[in-house]
Amino acid sequence: MFDLKTLVRPNILGLKPYSSARDEFKGNEGVFLDANENPFGTLNRYPNSDQKLLKEKLSQYNGIASKNIFIGNGSDEIIDLIYRIFCTPGKDKALTFTPTFGMYQVAADINAIELITLPLNDEFQINTDNLKPYFKDETLKLIFICSPNNPTGNCFNESDIEFILQNFNGMVIIDEAYADFSDKLSWSQSIETYPNLIVTQTFSKAWALAAARIGIAYASQEVIKLLNKVKMPYNISKLNETAAIEAIENRTTFEANKQIILEEKEKLIQALQKMDIIKKIYPSDANFLLVEVDDADHIYLNLVEQKVITRNRNSLVKNSIRITVGKPEENEKLIKSLLSISKS
Ligand SMILES: *Cc1c(COP(=O)(O)O)cnc(C)c1O
Repeated sequence: MFDLKTLVRPNILGLKPYSSARDEFKGNEGVFLDANENPFGTLNRYPNSDQKLLKEKLSQYNGIASKNIFIGNGSDEIIDLIYRIFCTPGKDKALTFTPTFGMYQVAADINAIELITLPLNDEFQINTDNLKPYFKDETLKLIFICSPNNPTGNCFNESDIEFILQNFNGMVIIDEAYADFSDKLSWSQSIETYPNLIVTQTFSKAWALAAARIGIAYASQEVIKLLNKVKMPYNISKLNETAAIEAIENRTTFEANKQIILEEKEKLIQALQKMDIIKKIYPSDANFLLVEVDDADHIYLNLVEQKVITRNRNSLVKNSIRITVGKPEENEKLIKSLLSISKS
């Protein structure tokens, strides 16, 4: 049986969170002499600690209530907070499916948590049979599922994710950093069904705000409360919150650019398919392609010499390179550069 209270670290359950001046007086009229701020300037005041306005905008956008939304300093902060809320260092464990996003391992290492890594199968899908024995382990608190997965690009089978959500009594974190590029339904629509589900998304990819560091978590109100309890009081700067609000208000730009990226991705696939140095293009639900080449190290370095920077993923998937879809002229340059390697 899923029981949130037994999953949370006792020190976090009992934690009395920091109460800021902005938390204690919520009004915005009056003479403010309560937070030792400088009375001069335009960024002189502490921001609201709960990103109320951004949550309302998001809520209008995707229909998920504000009380089910947490805003983090990038999804990276959210991943770290989840470890700190649920896993006692040196005792508890987490699990993920590899190859995948590197932050689950780094955040585990920082928090002294063992991360169990189960390899994906040849189609880069989850092998649920390998997973079953781990469900009995009470020190296993978290399962991280990156879908669409980085660096492979594919979404995991819905039925496998459902199986995990239904059978694992710890928290299941579905990292949907690339979900905006996919036409599959977001798991954020399932947070009412699964109390053990946390879905993370980000403004860093499709929303074109990687510099602003805005990550999102969708979960039950109880889990959102825990995230709020543990986060730094002012984890989101006002500048960054405003940038995210403006991005949602300018949704037409977001939609138009996303469309261009998706069309460019198709064109890139067409061009890559014709090249003999490209052995395989893996299916992608994201804004990047993982491709298998004959010699990844050689091709990566040759591209760098031509001032085209891709990501060499040879260490994760043999002879593979991860290519982000760029602007039309950038993709042209990539294609030309690859063709010049083909000929040499
Ligand atoms: C890029 C990426 C993120 C984004 O992290 P932010 O901290 O929000 O910038 C999260 N997860 C995955 C799998 C990513 O590839």
